Amino acid sequence: MTALAGRKVGDEVLFYAGKKFVARARIIGLFDNRPLAEAVWGTDENQKTWQHIMALDEVAEFEVPAEPVLRGLGVPVPLRSLTLVGAEERLRFLDMADPAAPARSKANPPSTGPGTRLGRNDLLQALAKLKTHIREQRPSRHKPITLLWAIGRLTAEQKRMVEWQTFREEVEPLLRDFGLADSRVTPEYPFWHLRSSGLWDVEGIEDSKGTPTPSRLAEAGASAGFSRDAANVLRRPLARAEAIGLICSTYLSEVDREALLGRVGLAGYASASGDFPDGEGEEGRAPRRSRTSSEPVRDPKLVERIKVMYGHACQVCGARVETQHSHYSEAAHIRGLGGPHYGPDRLSNLLCLCPNHHVEFDRLAIYIDEHWAVRRNSTGNVEYELKRHAEHVIEQEYLEYHRGLCGRG
Ligand SMILES: [Zn+2]
Repeated sequence: MTALAGRKVGDEVLFYAGKKFVARARIIGLFDNRPLAEAVWGTDENQKTWQHIMALDEVAEFEVPAEPVLRGLGVPVPLRSLTLVGAEERLRFLDMADPAAPARSKANPPSTGPGTRLGRNDLLQALAKLKTHIREQRPSRHKPITLLWAIGRLTAEQKRMVEWQTFREEVEPLLRDFGLADSRVTPEYPFWHLRSSGLWDVEGIEDSKGTPTPSRLAEAGASAGFSRDAANVLRRPLARAEAIGLICSTYLSEVDREALLGRVGLAGYASASGDFPDGEGEEGRAPRRSRTSSEPVRDPKLVERIKVMYGHACQVCGARVETQHSHYSEAAHIRGLGGPHYGPDRLSNLLCLCPNHHVEFDRLAIYIDEHWAVRRNSTGNVEYELKRHAEHVIEQEYLEYHRGLCGRG
């Protein structure tokens, strides 16, 4: 029982059985109730029971081999007793035990766990160090635009490798419309030279001195695309959001992000709310577009709860917008409900914001760092400290996703 002394509301609980973690849940309440414990579990031979009770929510079932997670956390293997791990360490393994990660689904067998060649950090580092042709002190946009196009294909579950003819038809117009104004449109350059990123395969053509010409690529029937490892990592939601955010903010800061992402099928990544704009249709605001039945429905009770909890005061600036008879605020999902984000409709994924900060948060102009500071994305400067109600557990995992979209992963 003393081992449980450090637990608190908001902590994560992992269930362990047969050398695997089989579920995770979040503590939403702690209480002592001996009569209840006796009724449920009885007593042991010493007349003891388990009266320290945890109420759990956000239960997710899965099967993850326990050993790599435990070793990563510095916990002796095999697990023999209850173990408490601090919140900081927890973040290091959350991705491995992410029930939303497609790595466990049948379509995408697990292959990106620890021990495989390329991980999420390797991918992000490779993307951050892209070799780009510098022209008059401005890096060429050919590679980053091509990478976004290729991520768009993966997201749409299209073939990983693309033949040169198709590549040219699809990528050339993007380079023309979003490349540097004075740069020549040469799709063969990213097709061939993205290999230096370590994330890209070219097949059907032997090593060539310099860049192969378009006619040579066509003759050879060459194809190109993300390597298997890179594609596997990019199928995971957090890694994909971080990759898109990083590419946009590192190489394409002067490009119309919404237009480009829209063209490559990644429109939802231009905002935190994705294809389901938060705040629309609320309190008399007309929806800007029609809804389809596949879009998630937000729970109006949660929306009400967060607004009442903060008395309509914005968690960023503290302002309360006054109306004739009351006050006005907006409930913002941190990780958007709709596609492509598919965040959960939970209090731990909600913020109470004023309309201005809701727009800034949604359009990635501000983000919240690991220490609850609200920072401006363009400068990284701290502008506010996020206000948090004692009963409002905000999940760092969702903020991490939002930071990924901001290119701050
Ligand atoms: Zn505000």
